[in-house]
Amino acid sequence: MFGQLDILPPDPILGLNQTFQQDDNADKINLSIGVYQNAQGLTPIFTAVKKAEQQLLAAQNTKSYAPQAGDPSFLEHMTRLLLGDELSEQLQDRVAAVMTPGGCGALRMGAELLSHAKQNVTLWVSDPTWANHYPLLQSAGLTLEKYSYYSAETHSVDFTAMLESLQAIPVGDVVLLHGCCHNPTGADISPAQWDQVISVLAERQLTPFIDVAYQGFGDGLAEDAYGVREAVKRLPEVLVAASCSKNFGLYRERIGAVMVITQDPQTTLAAKSHILTAARSSYSMSPYHGGGIVGLLLSDPELTSEWKTELEQVRLRMNRLRLELAEGLNQAQSRIDFSFVAESKGMFCYLGIPLEVVHALRSEFGIYLLDSTRINVAGLSQENLPIIIDRVSEVLS
Ligand code: PMP
Repeated sequence: MFGQLDILPPDPILGLNQTFQQDDNADKINLSIGVYQNAQGLTPIFTAVKKAEQQLLAAQNTKSYAPQAGDPSFLEHMTRLLLGDELSEQLQDRVAAVMTPGGCGALRMGAELLSHAKQNVTLWVSDPTWANHYPLLQSAGLTLEKYSYYSAETHSVDFTAMLESLQAIPVGDVVLLHGCCHNPTGADISPAQWDQVISVLAERQLTPFIDVAYQGFGDGLAEDAYGVREAVKRLPEVLVAASCSKNFGLYRERIGAVMVITQDPQTTLAAKSHILTAARSSYSMSPYHGGGIVGLLLSDPELTSEWKTELEQVRLRMNRLRLELAEGLNQAQSRIDFSFVAESKGMFCYLGIPLEVVHALRSEFGIYLLDSTRINVAGLSQENLPIIIDRVSEVLS
């Protein structure tokens, strides 16, 4: 059966990480991975998350199946986190959320729902987008096309090109938008630009599928949900995929939620039943543990406030590092103006350096970033910043 299979190449990001592990350079620095790291280079468990987990385990007296859609407290509080209290109460009967294995599970279940709803769905993704969007969403039967997004020349969103591109999308197609903290570029659209994007979606009757993997990592929890909330206020149907990997630090627990908002309760119930059916025919139901933790945490005001404080510290730390990197690079060399680095949002940004510089940094100094020049800002620290600034400037000049 399996003898004729070829060995497939590893995922490019995971593959580079393996190369990093095998590199025997004692001073190597990994800026290529997609997890948050603190000043010590560790990915810690949030204190509030740990406390919620301990309470959950202490109170748990069964490992029997949870409801198929997921922990009810998790679903209610995730909806509130994404939509805010007012909207989630207003739209109660028109919103359905289902717990999923991570943001990937949410994206995949959202894609399955789209495939159930219509034959031959075309989904438009930003150019560039997170590399895994392609295999993840194509395997559900969607055709992926690109809309203009990032300009390598200006190191920012080319908004005119983006709008033009969206205006040319055939009526009825679906558009994948990053809710905040665009991965891989770190270049986000502003609230005013969201308003314009949503107007185009409304005019062209395009359905937004919003990927929210970094809520709280950009400008704040509510600010990062601006696009989702406005889309939900102004459009008849919205699909959202949320991840708790980053903002709750629950990566390995695989927890996220897919949320669908439609114009009437009946359609919402139908959409939910299709998500549940798609899940049932795949992994049946999401792992419970992560959702149990988040549900407990968000229903406890004290734990919630502790988590928000910790999340804010994470966000501010990344902002400081981003600023120090931009200023340091601008002082050390004059070939590229790196001020745009300070403007980027979330965990990632493109450095916008030539490919040969990326490769030289890797081979000569053991500094790893992706070929696209994406760096993980959280991989920077007070210790490695001067080294990185020095090496990048050296190779650039
Ligand atoms: N969407 C984007 C844009 C991401 O960057 C990620 C994580 N790298 C995800 C979704 C999914 O994350 P997870 O499945 O680990 O929750």
